[in-house]
Parts: sequence; C-alpha cells; structure tokens
Amino acid sequence: MEYKQRTVTCGQLRKSDVGNHVVLNGWVHRNRNHGGIHFINLRDRYGITQVVVGESVPPAVAEIAEKLHLEYCIAVEGIVQARPDSMINAEMVTGEIEVEVTNLQILSTCDPIPFMIDDESDAKEDTRLRYRYLDLRSKGMQKRIRLRHDFIRAIREFLSNRDFYEIETPTLIRSTPEGARDFVVPSRLYAGKFYALPQSPQLLKQILMVSGFDKYFQIARCYRDEDARGDRQLEFTQLDLEMSFVNRDDVLSLMEELFNDVFRKVMQIELPQHFRRLSWAEAMNTYGVDKPDLRYDLPLVDVVDIAKDSTFGTFKAVLEAGGVVKALRAPASTEVAFTRKYITALEDAAKVYGAKGLAWMKVGANNTLEGGVSKFFAGQETTLIKRMEASAGDMIVFVGDQWKKTCNSLGAVRTKLARDLGLIDPKVFAFCWIIDFPLFEFNEEKGHWEAAHHMFSMPQTQYLDSLESDPGSAIGDLYDLVLNGYEVASGSIRIHDVELQKRIFRICNIPDEVAEERFGFLLNAFRYGPPPHGGIAPGIDRMLMIMAGQTSIKEVIAFPKNTAAISPMDEAPSYIDQAQLDELHLCIKQPQQKD
Ligand code: ASP
Repeated sequence: MEYKQRTVTCGQLRKSDVGNHVVLNGWVHRNRNHGGIHFINLRDRYGITQVVVGESVPPAVAEIAEKLHLEYCIAVEGIVQARPDSMINAEMVTGEIEVEVTNLQILSTCDPIPFMIDDESDAKEDTRLRYRYLDLRSKGMQKRIRLRHDFIRAIREFLSNRDFYEIETPTLIRSTPEGARDFVVPSRLYAGKFYALPQSPQLLKQILMVSGFDKYFQIARCYRDEDARGDRQLEFTQLDLEMSFVNRDDVLSLMEELFNDVFRKVMQIELPQHFRRLSWAEAMNTYGVDKPDLRYDLPLVDVVDIAKDSTFGTFKAVLEAGGVVKALRAPASTEVAFTRKYITALEDAAKVYGAKGLAWMKVGANNTLEGGVSKFFAGQETTLIKRMEASAGDMIVFVGDQWKKTCNSLGAVRTKLARDLGLIDPKVFAFCWIIDFPLFEFNEEKGHWEAAHHMFSMPQTQYLDSLESDPGSAIGDLYDLVLNGYEVASGSIRIHDVELQKRIFRICNIPDEVAEERFGFLLNAFRYGPPPHGGIAPGIDRMLMIMAGQTSIKEVIAFPKNTAAISPMDEAPSYIDQAQLDELHLCIKQPQQKD
C-alpha cells in the first residue's frame, strides 16, 4: 500500500514549526465536527496533535474526513499553523499549534471500540485484557511500559558498568522444587519425562559462580504455579544477580547504589544513600511484619510489664501462658472518629491474624484514660501514656497472645490505621533491609522443618553446631529488601560446601539419596572448587508497580493473565488436540468439555 509516511510524530510540533509542511501518521483519538470543520486529535506514542480539516479542502479530502471514526489509523498531510490565542491548550505540549490538513488517507479502519482510549481505562479488567492491544494505547499504559523499559535499561547499564555479565540460563530445566509448585513441560523424545520451567535461576546462577563468572545478572522470567494475586502472576520477571567472594554487606551496598542510580535516572528521585536495616526480630517486634511500610512510624510497643501489674485477667492469663502484650497508639485524627463501629473494624483486621480480640482505651485530658479496658489500669495511667507517647484524643489498642500472633495482628491494625488516618505519603519511597531471618520454619502440616527462604542459604556461623539440635533458633545470612510494605527482593549468602548443604537437606526432610537424585548436579559442582558466593533477586514487576503508584502488577506488564490465571486475549490455557497429546505420550485423566 502506497501511503504518506510521517515526517514528524504527534508529540513533536511546536510554535517554531509554524509554516512547515508535515505528514503525521497516527490514530483518531477524538473527532469533533463543528459545522463542517473537523477537529481531529491525532495520537501516537509520542503525544497528540490537533489537525483541522477546514472548509477549503478539496471535496475528496472532505469526504474522507466524513468517514473517520475513533481509532482509525490515518495519514495526515498539512501545514502547521499557530492556534489563535483563545484556542491555545496549555495542557498539551503541542497545544500552541494545529495542522491545517491538505490531504488525508485512511491506512486502516477500526471496529466500534469496546471502551474509550483515555488516560486510564475504566473498563472491567477482563475487557481491558481481552482487548489488550487497545488498552495498551492508553496514556497510562504507554507511560508504564516506557517506565519498564527505562528501568530495565538503567539496571543493565549500571551492572554492565560494574563488570557484571548478563548471562541467560535455560527455561527448560530439571524440576527442582524451590517451595512453590513447578510448571512442567512434557518431553516428546522421552516418554514420561518432563522439563520444568524455572521458579528462578537459583541453582544455575550458583553454578555460574562455580564456573568463575564472578558477577552475573539476568533479567530472568520465573514461573510459579501459584494462585494469582494483585502482586503475583504465574510468570514474573526478576533481576537475578549473583556474586563471588562477597559478604552480605557487599550485596546490600551494591543494591543501594543500584537503586540510587536507577531512581535518579528513571524517576528523578534522590533516595537515601543507605537504607535502614532492621533485623527480622526487630521488624516483627516493632512493626508486626517482616515487610514493614516505613512511610509512617506507628511502632508497636511492648507493655508486658504494665499488663502484668494491671488487674486485667485476660492479659494476665496470656502472660502466664508465655504470651506477650503489645500496644499501639492510634493518633487523634480529623479523618476518623474512634467510634465503636470503627474499633470493631480494627478488631476485625486483628482477628484475620488470629487475635481473639482487640482491647482499647482512649486518652483523655490531664493524663486520664477512658473507656474500654481502662478501668483495669487504674493507677498506671501516667506510665502507660508516657510509654505510648500518647496525648489527649489518642486511642491505645492492645493485643495479648502468643508472640507471633500478637505481632501480626497488631501489625495489621497498624496498616489499617495508617491508611484510614491518611498517614501515608504516596510520593515517598521507603526502602529498608530486613536481615537476620530465621533459617527454618516448622511446617505443621507436613510435620517437619523447611527452609524459610530456600535451602541454599548460609546459616550464620554461631548456629552451625546447633542446626540439628535446635533448627528453630538458627539465623541465616538472609536478607530481604522491602519497599513501602512490599517485599521487593530477597537473597542470601549461599552454602558452598557439600557437607553443609546435605545437612540442610536432611533437616528439611530430604535424605541423602533423594538429595543426590534431585540436586546431585549442584552437589557435584560443589565438589569442584566452588567459591564463596551470594546474591539477590529483586522482583521487577513488583518494583515497577510501586514506582508507578499502582496496586496490581498487571498494570506494568504488557500481557498479564487475569486473576483466574487466564489470558482473555488469546484464551490461554487452551486444550491441545489428540495428535499433540499422543506425540507427548499424554492421556488426560478426565477430559473436561466445559467450554
Ligand atoms: N532465587 C531467590 C528467589 O527467587 C532469590 C535469591 O536468593 O537470589 O526468591
């Protein structure tokens, strides 16, 4: 097809271009007909330009203008004109000019569109995903996909300048469960055998260290067969990174420098040079979670001693049973009144994490406490108010239970309070490191210990002798990076010793024979001079979601699945035909013919 190719983009023309003859290619964003004069907003990736089909155009051009509908793809030829002062649109970068059309060509037509292409679409998620090609035309999606490109490019530049190699690892690997469910791919050549899609390149990056590559990274696609959520997808992208001859602080510092550089380049934001570090125990005790949102403080406060001296039977019983009592100050607010109804809503948030209830009291004038459980704390008013740094109009809420339940429940109340009271500044990016995680967690269902992160993390030296006798106390050289209440990266210093690796496997209920069968390749590699090494893997989608001020990673992925793990556009997953099944030596147990 012969057509006029653009000489400029739709975001390019300024007043200095007035008088120029130009050709634009783009989509009809809006089309208004004012008494035979067409004002068309022509859009492409770079912006919007107003083009005007006036009364003096040849009849053939006027006829084409009549035929235009939204999202037609067209070529426009014309002369750049200054807009009359009253028509200048200060909101548009091209708002000072318009293009007086001399010729028009329809490059392709467009069916009636299912939703308007606005800055952000308000169509239902499935409609947006079904017509993703249209949804991606919106300004919001275009901006976010650009942000994604800029972010990844800045990461690549930073790391390449630091001597890192970008090395690809395979997508078809051996199934080596890392905690989540594997996606598997049947082998045609070997009946009954399967490849797995990597949950992460964890073992391969460690093997690259054995190979001497020293500094590796990859923008890696990872696959986990888990239920999709706002910040999870079946497949997601990580910046996977590994280094040899490093300790924990080397990895942490490199990441701080990387995110400082990338945020400066991509977001024009200066981050603090170093991120706050909290041990896992400190984070749990102070904020009730291992991924605290530090855009606001609201610390949980230990009030065990005060509860012990009170006359509140419930707390005393909790303490006798080895539990703890913690309190949280809800600052007086103009946003929310601390009514019974609101307190019940806070209590509901606490109950999700197992708390049986939420005790409360209000701070009155002159160091007095009122309502709720205040009567059980008679005589302790000043101590309690001082401990809580509270003042008149505040409310104090308490949970007393086992340590973890208390932390988690009150942590949930803290999050709800911050949201409801408007304590969160959406422009702030609060990074922090959580370090010194427990190495193991006891899985009640399975009845054995499991790695809290993954089985390849190094225990801290002082726990090496007591790993088997007291796995619950072992702290690992593990670290998470947290941003605004989301875990955005996790990593560790790794084990590089066959015997220690086998001990960890055994504690996680993987006997030597099974370990050799499943992880033999790693153990073998470790028999050939492995260097000490460590790494980390920031989640690209999750970081971008936060950077873009979104709450779903779908907003920063070009073609995501919906919450039901379906891609409404191409309708994946789909059935495959019998011939394909036969070739793969597969037989479906219960063919479901539902759609
Ligand atoms: N492979 C780990 C993960 O995906 C990250 C790491 O330890 O580097 O969580």
